Amino acid sequence: MSETSTHFGFDEIPESEKAGRVRGIFGSVAARYDVMNDAMSLGIHRIWKDAMMDWLAPRAGQRLLDVAGGTGDIAFRFLDRAGQGHATVLDITEPMLIEGRKRAEAGAMADSLDWVVGDAMALPFADNSFDAYTISFGIRNMTRPQEALDEAYRVLRPGGRLMVLEFSQIPNEMLQTVYDLYSFHIIPRLGQAIANDRDSYQYLVESIRRFPDQEAFLDMVRAAGFGNARYRNLSLGIACLHSGWKL
Ligand code: SAM
Repeated sequence: MSETSTHFGFDEIPESEKAGRVRGIFGSVAARYDVMNDAMSLGIHRIWKDAMMDWLAPRAGQRLLDVAGGTGDIAFRFLDRAGQGHATVLDITEPMLIEGRKRAEAGAMADSLDWVVGDAMALPFADNSFDAYTISFGIRNMTRPQEALDEAYRVLRPGGRLMVLEFSQIPNEMLQTVYDLYSFHIIPRLGQAIANDRDSYQYLVESIRRFPDQEAFLDMVRAAGFGNARYRNLSLGIACLHSGWKL
C-alpha cells in the first residue's frame, strides 16, 4: 500500500519525510533566522507579534506554552507583558532553540523560561497544563495541522486560550497578485543574498500559498473543540490571528 502524501511547499512528498525536511530547513537557517525575519518583512513581523500580545493580553502568573517557538520572540514578549509568569518554548528544531537561548532576553528571563525539543503533534505535557497556547508562523509547517490544534486543546486548562499567528490569504485579487510578485521574486533572492539559502525561502513562500485561508482555518480551530473562535486580519490579510477558548 502506498504511503499517504503531503505537501512540502508546492511538492508532494511522503508524510513520513516532512518533519525531517522541515527540521533540515530550520536547522540550516537558525543562525540567520532573526536577521532574515526583519529583512523579508521590513520589520513588520514585530508589529504582528505585538498585535498577537495585544489580543492575548497576558496577565501576571499565567503559564504559556509557545509551540514552534523558535528563537523565543513570542515567549519574550509574553513574559515582558505579564510581568511575572512562566513560558515554555517548544520546537522540533534544536538549533532554533539554541539561537534563542543566546539572546539577551533569554538570560534576563532565564528563571521564567523552559526550552523543550518536541513535536507539536505529540506534546510531552499532561492534559490541562497551560493558561495560554501560542503558535506563531509554525502551524503552516506541520505535517498534520489539525493534530497540532487537537494537542493544543488537550494541554490547555479549561478556560485557557489558543492564539495562532500565521500567514494567510489577501482577500483582494489585485493586491494578492502584487504580493505574489514580491513573494516569489524577491524573497527567495533575499534568502540567497543574506542567508546563502534560496531553497529554504522558496519553501517559505510556497508553503504560505498552500496554507488554508482565514475561514478554512477557523473551521479547523472549531473542529479541535475551541469555542468563541474568531480571527483578525493583519496587514490586509497577509497575516492573520486566530483565537479560541477551551470552554
Ligand atoms: N515562532 C517563531 C517566530 O514566530 O519567529 C519561529 C517560527 S519558524 C517560521 C517555524 C518553527 O516551527 C521552526 O522553528 C520549526 O522548527 C518549527 N516547527 C516545525 N514543525 C514543528 C513541529 N512539528 N513541532 C514543533 N515545532 C515545529
